[in-house]
Amino acid sequence: MLHLAGQDSRGLAHALDIDLADARRILGAVVGRGRTLREARNVRREVLDRAEERCSSRHLERVATADGEDGFRKYLFQLCDGARVEAVRIPLFDTHHTLCLSSQVGCALGCAFCATGRLGLTRNLEAWEIVEQFLEVRADSTRPITGAVFMGQGEPFHNYQAVLQAAYVLCDPAGGRVDQRRISISTAGVVPAIRRYTAEGHKFRLCVSLNAATPEKRAALMPIERGHSLEELVGAVREHAALRGRVTLEYVMMASVNIGEEDAVALGKLLHGMKVRLNPIDVNDATGRFRPPSPEEWTRFRNALARELPGQPIVRRYSGGKDKHAACGMLVGSST
Ligand code: SF4
Repeated sequence: MLHLAGQDSRGLAHALDIDLADARRILGAVVGRGRTLREARNVRREVLDRAEERCSSRHLERVATADGEDGFRKYLFQLCDGARVEAVRIPLFDTHHTLCLSSQVGCALGCAFCATGRLGLTRNLEAWEIVEQFLEVRADSTRPITGAVFMGQGEPFHNYQAVLQAAYVLCDPAGGRVDQRRISISTAGVVPAIRRYTAEGHKFRLCVSLNAATPEKRAALMPIERGHSLEELVGAVREHAALRGRVTLEYVMMASVNIGEEDAVALGKLLHGMKVRLNPIDVNDATGRFRPPSPEEWTRFRNALARELPGQPIVRRYSGGKDKHAACGMLVGSST
């Protein structure tokens, strides 16, 4: 059965065989204003009847919220089958929010520094379950939500179709009305999906979680390296950057692991001639196996990066909500 929150206007018009204008009005009610289907304005009763017959209106159940001392808010949702995922609301400039969304329950990729990876994969989320995270958080917020990042539980490109479908609902002018360029899809390096994404010409921001500059080091941190090598990955990123512009590379910093002088030099060689934006980010590892850099270690690494990647933006990204286990790599479907 279809779910209204899982279709953008065109998808809805096609699926229900109705006018695009009617589909926009229905989406405007359900996603745009967070109302019910029957509250769609200027839509004939028979069109609403057909939509009601063919569409489910199930919801996620919000089971808990937890507020970090830095203003990040974690939402824990229970899905219809009892599985649990989080979304994290991120404050921006005291005026608006951006939202970190889950795309799967758990994750199959098992990155060494990530608690979600230790869960293994339960299942993919459906597009409507992703959009509903947005609707629930928006309904709880007084400031507008102007961006979304697919960096919660899961590898978005292992759930390619549903993630893209949800992203198009979020940016639909009748739906979530989030600017396409403020929606980021972050992958650990599923190379065939990156190539497909590039070929299909989507405008959402592509982020790739790199985390190491040599195959040996990457394989020790990210088992995906054994399926899609660093060389293959950088080739796909290069193609994307050449066709669609700068790619954001995330780099989870782990002291004594991947932030040495030699790592900066290897990054410089690996990324030579490519337009990237490097986002170093502190590791969040509740097991204590990995620790983030000290201020001195960060300064040394930053200086080495600036030397090895001249002219490339290097922006340290803050991952908040640590005190509530809401930060990157900490989501495990729990309320605290
Ligand atoms: S970092 Fe991302 S891809 Fe890796 S295990 Fe965690 S959720 Fe999966």
